[in-house]
Amino acid sequence: MPNLMSRQTVIKIGVDALNEAGTDLICKVCIMNGGSCCNGCHFLANGIGCEKRNTSCTAWLCGFLKYLLYATGLLKEWDDFWRQVPGQSFREDFTPEFFFVDKQLQMQSIRNLSEALATDLDEIATKHIAIGFIITLREKIDKNIDRLNDCKHDPKKQIKIERNIKVLSSPFLRFQKELREYHLNNSNT
Ligand code: SF4
Ligand code: SF4
Repeated sequence: MPNLMSRQTVIKIGVDALNEAGTDLICKVCIMNGGSCCNGCHFLANGIGCEKRNTSCTAWLCGFLKYLLYATGLLKEWDDFWRQVPGQSFREDFTPEFFFVDKQLQMQSIRNLSEALATDLDEIATKHIAIGFIITLREKIDKNIDRLNDCKHDPKKQIKIERNIKVLSSPFLRFQKELREYHLNNSNT
């Protein structure tokens, strides 16, 4: 049965889910390497952070966060939830104060995976002297996951893209180890 939900509640659900998933750990490494997605936004206040949290920025995932949810099988859950939220735009929203949603957001506990990915990214960034190496990697992963979504009816293309994502994410050694355990635990439940 559809539930009436407020714009503020939906933002809180998203922010809480990301915090619980430990994405702040990944953001920290990304920002240290100049990759903040808030760069240049006029709602970003020095020492305060975002002054205009909206549904759009909460729902949006960069390549790292998209990969985290893709690898843990939670990306569809995330996308399906946010697809119900009207009025998303770029760095602002036109979401009504109240609207109906059919499904709740059901996430899993993946903070240890975020921690592993953040440590891997930090190590990779230190090893590669080229400035912005991990940010380029983020963009490549992002593009591939989006392409995967766009070719749902082409299994051959899908296999090729999945292979690309595997290659791009192969340097995430700690993350891959945690991921194997995560899938093992989930298949036993
Ligand atoms: S681009 Fe991704 S990892 Fe970087 S700060 Fe934004 S959400 Fe965080
Ligand atoms: S509106 Fe979006 S891009 Fe701008 S500071 Fe807030 S979260 Fe960042």
